Amino acid sequence: MDLWFSEYHTKSVKYSIKVDKQLFSKKSDFQRIDIFYSKDLGNILTLDGYLMVTEKDEFVYHEMITHVALAVNPDIKNILVIGAGDGGTIRELTKYSIDSVENIDMVEIDEEVVKACLEYLPQTSHRLIDSRVKMFYEDGLKFVRKKKNEYDLIIIDSTDPFGPGEGLFTKEFYGNCYNALKENGILINQHESPFYDNDAKAVAKINKRLRHVFPVCLVYQAHIPSYPSGHWLFGFASKNLHPLNDLNAEIWNNLNIKTKYYNTDLHWGCFALPNYVKELLTDDE
Ligand code: SAM
Repeated sequence: MDLWFSEYHTKSVKYSIKVDKQLFSKKSDFQRIDIFYSKDLGNILTLDGYLMVTEKDEFVYHEMITHVALAVNPDIKNILVIGAGDGGTIRELTKYSIDSVENIDMVEIDEEVVKACLEYLPQTSHRLIDSRVKMFYEDGLKFVRKKKNEYDLIIIDSTDPFGPGEGLFTKEFYGNCYNALKENGILINQHESPFYDNDAKAVAKINKRLRHVFPVCLVYQAHIPSYPSGHWLFGFASKNLHPLNDLNAEIWNNLNIKTKYYNTDLHWGCFALPNYVKELLTDDE
């Protein structure tokens, strides 16, 4: 018998993976959590039937959501990570020595995701035990309301703009993130895919809201094969640092951080966007 996981990318386009084994399934207070094994993609995490992580291509997403900001500002010490229950973002951040990254507050709404990933996704979760990581099982939207002038970097590694992640794409939330950041603060968020019509609308909306709050607001791209269309965007927003003019390539390269996707040549290239994406980013909501 063949067992397949399918995710609809539009009503008439779907992405399917042959499931060799179902490793875990649970309904938490927030979402349904599943972990599958696929011969070609390794272990796969899905939430409410949406693909979050495959062991095969997670390195692209996790390297791109972290190193771009740290190559711009080597003085990032205090970091807030919102979502990120699989632990991949933390794994990348803990590649920096304790002299640079001193503290990481991680705010994940669903403890069950973390527990499942600790057991079935060690490839991404194995650094969650780092002593610099302080775990808060709370809604990120509420957590940032209390914070003022505290963080050098905020990374929003959330689910899509519906379900528990919806509030993490609002103007109110971005305004609170602005206040939670220090003067040289940077915000990086997962910015969805620009390709299919409904996703493109979400990209335009997210970007307009970010631009409303942050004086510096750019988008960069990566190729993530298991995500809708494979074309994925991240947002770089800050109070004053520019991702290209302020890049500290030499300092970052001297750190000798081992990566599989990110490098400082690619850093320049990933901000060069196709015309159809540029148009989306000037659209009004
Ligand atoms: N790489 C992923 C992607 O974009 O497909 C995101 C991965 S990570 C698993 C997303 C996490 O965000 C989930 O574990 C989810 O529980 C968490 N999350 C969703 N809404 C949240 C909220 N309001 N506050 C904190 N965490 C949230």
